[in-house]
Amino acid sequence: MHDFQKNMMIRMIVIIILSIIPQFFLPFPYGIILGLAIIAGNYFFMRKAIISRYGSGYGAGKFGGIEFGSKLSKTCTVCGSSAKGVECKRCGSKSFKMS
Ligand SMILES: [Zn+2]
Repeated sequence: MHDFQKNMMIRMIVIIILSIIPQFFLPFPYGIILGLAIIAGNYFFMRKAIISRYGSGYGAGKFGGIEFGSKLSKTCTVCGSSAKGVECKRCGSKSFKMS
């Protein structure tokens, strides 16, 4: 695993913990609102960080579910063939790994 991905993962775990903590000391619904605000703020930070790292194509594909101008080659995790669209041309799978 790359350091960047590891950092993102650690950050995600920290943010999840940070968003849970307010639930214990803030009355409903303030704890939930604060938790969601922390997650939303982090979402935009991570999106920005990933786009600046991998390009907007990757960011849009990863978070929007649609691939636009992705320069990375994708490999189908089901049959192993390379795919360019949103689904594998050979088996129709939507599960890919980036390479
Ligand atoms: Zn396939």
